[in-house]
Amino acid sequence: MNKKIAVIKGDCIGPEIVTEAMKVLDKVAEKFGHTFEYDEVLMGGASIDVYGVPLTDETIEHCKAADAVLMGSIGGDTTTSPWYKLPPEKRPEAGLLKIRKSLGLFANLRPSVLYPQLSGACPLREDISSKGFDMLIMRELTGGLYFGERKTEEVDGVLTAVDTLKYDENEIRRVAIKAFEVAMKRRKKVTSVDKANVLDSSRLWRKVVDEVAKDYPEVTLEHALVDSTAMQLVKDPAQFDVMLTENMFGDILSDEASMITGSIGMLASASMNETKFGLYEPSGGSAPDIAGQNKANPIATILSAAMMLRFSFDMQQEADAVEAAIVKALDDGLRTGDIMSEGCTMLSCSEMGDAIAERI
Ligand code: NAD
Repeated sequence: MNKKIAVIKGDCIGPEIVTEAMKVLDKVAEKFGHTFEYDEVLMGGASIDVYGVPLTDETIEHCKAADAVLMGSIGGDTTTSPWYKLPPEKRPEAGLLKIRKSLGLFANLRPSVLYPQLSGACPLREDISSKGFDMLIMRELTGGLYFGERKTEEVDGVLTAVDTLKYDENEIRRVAIKAFEVAMKRRKKVTSVDKANVLDSSRLWRKVVDEVAKDYPEVTLEHALVDSTAMQLVKDPAQFDVMLTENMFGDILSDEASMITGSIGMLASASMNETKFGLYEPSGGSAPDIAGQNKANPIATILSAAMMLRFSFDMQQEADAVEAAIVKALDDGLRTGDIMSEGCTMLSCSEMGDAIAERI
């Protein structure tokens, strides 16, 4: 297969970690007989330095013309970098919001996996962490409270603020379909999270998710309330496969789910539209504190590339091979500094990329 990938290396550790993901993709191409063509474009601080804006229309057009986008992290040190002296709409992160909107990316996929080899980093009790977990949070990204009408005004002399939580059935249906499609490629279970005992938007959410579920009889669906889910995440995270939820609940729960893995350098993420097109990036930031030192953990970005293979290119075997190579490297005691533990071998960012590519 021939696939075109738009590559946004980003800022600080971005170029280091994306280079390693490309190394692994090249190995996949060689091994499985594919061609991956890269189209490198700028975004974030790197784009500000060249074009004066964090994202140009030309970059967006390049991304649209590709089969998927692979991205590193955007942004710099928010206290010292000159990028943060610019007005908010000109700062690096403004590019992130604009690209998601321009590409119609409404579904955010955040896997949260506790590898047995790294269970020591999990802040949960040993009897819980020893079971491991492997879940994916499917968060609606372009609706709900963050995009609803908002205002602050004085009512009868009292300052009053209003935010609006609005979803229509189409917005719910398209993200629910994504969740069921992804569940079909995993353990075939969807937990839909809402607050249907209080909110109308949640009651509509439940109704539409139930309708979508009828088209996926192989997938087990359960509904759960967000407050109880927040508790279950720390009590028994192994019960979850795909967790489907609206924007704000997903924002909070996905941070909780990533925290219990204990290692930010291992967390992949993807944002998708209705088609198979997606933007794949690590969950962490650009880590200015370790930039340019060849110290960063490239695994989150390599796992994001594996998600691209699985969800945008339908290359299941290839994605499995990348994930297995990562597990093999961990089994062999190879670690970057952030996940280092006694008795293991510490590698640089590029050495970890080499080690994973060799194991494919
Ligand atoms: P951060 O995630 O960059 O760093 C937090 C800590 O985690 C740091 O100690 C860092 O060294 C470490 N870390 C992160 N990724 C790592 C990796 N791959 N390997 C090893 N260690 C890693 O968060 P921050 O310091 O709050 O933000 C730094 C910059 O990143 C800011 O400009 C912020 O706006 C930006 N940011 C960008 C994105 C994105 O591009 N989607 C997301 C979050 C933050």
